[in-house]
Amino acid sequence: MQITKHICPRDCYDTCGMIAHVDEYGRLVKVSGDPDHDYTQGKLCCKGYSYTQYVYHPQRVTFPMIQEPRFSGNWKRISWDDALEIVARKMIELKNRYGSLLPMALVRGPGNYGVFTKSMEFLLRSIGPFTLASGSLCIAAGWDAHLLDFGGVRYKNPTGMLNSNLLLLWGANPAATAIHQMATIQKLREHGGKVILIDIIPTATSLHCDEFIRVHPGGDGALALAILRQMVIKNTVDYSFIKDHSVGWEAFSSWLLQVDPQELINVSGVDEHKVEMIADQIAESKPVSFWPGSGLQRYANGGQNMRAIDALVAASGNLYSKGGGLYFQNIDFWKLNHEIFSSAFSTKLYDPRLVGLNALAKELGACQNPPIKLMWFTSSNYLARGTDILSMKKRIAEMELTIAVDHFLTSTAAVSDIVFPATTCFECQDLVAGYWHNKIGINQQAIEPVGECRSELKISQSLSQMINHIEPGACSFPEERTSEEWFQSFTPWLKTNVEISDYRELLNGALPLQPPAEEKGNSCNIASGKYKFLTLEALKQGCPEIPSLINPMEPPSAYPYRFLVLHRAEHLNTQFSTVDWLQENILEEVCMNPSVAQRLGIEEGDTVVIYNEIGEIQMYSKLDKDVPSDILITYSWQDLFKKPVNVLTKVQETDLGQSLTGFPGVAYHDTFVNLTRGKKGGG
Ligand code: SF4
Repeated sequence: MQITKHICPRDCYDTCGMIAHVDEYGRLVKVSGDPDHDYTQGKLCCKGYSYTQYVYHPQRVTFPMIQEPRFSGNWKRISWDDALEIVARKMIELKNRYGSLLPMALVRGPGNYGVFTKSMEFLLRSIGPFTLASGSLCIAAGWDAHLLDFGGVRYKNPTGMLNSNLLLLWGANPAATAIHQMATIQKLREHGGKVILIDIIPTATSLHCDEFIRVHPGGDGALALAILRQMVIKNTVDYSFIKDHSVGWEAFSSWLLQVDPQELINVSGVDEHKVEMIADQIAESKPVSFWPGSGLQRYANGGQNMRAIDALVAASGNLYSKGGGLYFQNIDFWKLNHEIFSSAFSTKLYDPRLVGLNALAKELGACQNPPIKLMWFTSSNYLARGTDILSMKKRIAEMELTIAVDHFLTSTAAVSDIVFPATTCFECQDLVAGYWHNKIGINQQAIEPVGECRSELKISQSLSQMINHIEPGACSFPEERTSEEWFQSFTPWLKTNVEISDYRELLNGALPLQPPAEEKGNSCNIASGKYKFLTLEALKQGCPEIPSLINPMEPPSAYPYRFLVLHRAEHLNTQFSTVDWLQENILEEVCMNPSVAQRLGIEEGDTVVIYNEIGEIQMYSKLDKDVPSDILITYSWQDLFKKPVNVLTKVQETDLGQSLTGFPGVAYHDTFVNLTRGKKGGG
């Protein structure tokens, strides 16, 4: 049995170390956890263990395909050379027609966070200006809030939570989305520490917590302010920290004391006794860890919610604590792969024209000089995950050519003209870093590519060769450089950031990214300067200068239910939905309070239609008394049977996000719908 080491490259907190087991016939027969990975310690989630089925799945796209006629569903096999020539000729023709590749838009998704998934972007950067979809759909508001308040969260090792006496899990559900962190939570409790979970409904994580506090959707900021107000009144805030390490406290605290506490209670939905209990526990339990999940910033007031939580962490004196403090996805991750890949280039690279991922259909339509004529999707299922999906579909129909690079015929690939089959992390080499535990490692190649699949690097190199074959000298992307040679050219970056002088040291397993020398041994979260309870920078982004109360959006009368799509351990956005092993409970269900069902004459298991002004989706009803009566919740696969639940998601921006990523995030949780019993099409 041949053994190789891998890093799971999915958009997941854990970025697990994996071991591939390959038999004498060159087949991947087992995937297990890498026991040498000091964070994931030899364990994977169910998705990781299902990789063997994923890799050899009968529906996997294993050779290039072309759809003729367009949108007909009639797919034909095509050779790599023929497919690449169609794409290369179209690119050259557009470049000649418009004077640049600006009419070509690249959309890169989070299906794979390996460095080489940047290959196509750098191929285009090496040709000239083009159009790049940018931004973070999910976490832009949170990152910007931290930037405003204290220059970004300085990375803390997540196992450091173990050293705190109290953990506030705020809208995070690690039992479903970050399973390895559950070990730290378990140990913390065994050592006598307490865990309080704040969320809109009890989750799989609730079972492992000491207290569950139910908060109204989008009311997290109100709750943080209510707790902090209580601490100010009881004089339990950390005035030493406030005096030495912050600015703006006077203005913020005097505003806070004037706020009507009943308003904070109404907006948060948390009564004064619970507020007082949390405030007292924070005051008595230093060091305290705070882990805000990403969901609570997916509201129109999401950035402001996060700023209020930041203020609570700061004023309670926990930003400087060794064990406690604020834990969040590493802000440096946003630019990491770009930094690594660009470090290997000595030739000129061009900057792209940026369009926002958060409102892609609208942004692409606004590009008129020149207009977009060609789209390339890589690791992206935007037609299932994005916003205003139906408009986006129409936008794709206007293209002269659309290409998707993927493993399966996803909703997005299905409306493309050409699909290029991509390798998985077992069929090619790559370098992968995590955004939670901060380790970086190498994917070795375990097996030959399945069918005619190619890595993103190989696809870009083949395309570059084709472009240069048609128009010699048009593209300077390194066509012949092997993965090993790329790794070698990353050496200066690896020396500075991982403190290794040879990439092969990563073959033994993932290593930690090093903080800058001046930050070593520094347990403070504050990335730069002093903590800002007041910042005029916020005004530039349309937010108040202090983290004051901004109420969550109210549902319109025609669509009185907030529609929330939540995560389960078995899926990751739209990924893995083809894997039978994860399908035991295919949840086409929408959960609702029994009182809602009764009012609408709906019984358990009935077919219901959920709809709003931009779309509708059909599901089965599930009655759940834990679901508030103004909310509908689904844990469905997001791309279930090509009927994406996000067909109901409008372009609704978060209040912050444009500073770091260039564009606001998406207020997914401000999706409002109505429902009715019956079949699709109403009634
Ligand atoms: S999906 Fe996440 S938890 Fe599962 S194997 Fe991959 S990185 Fe690990």
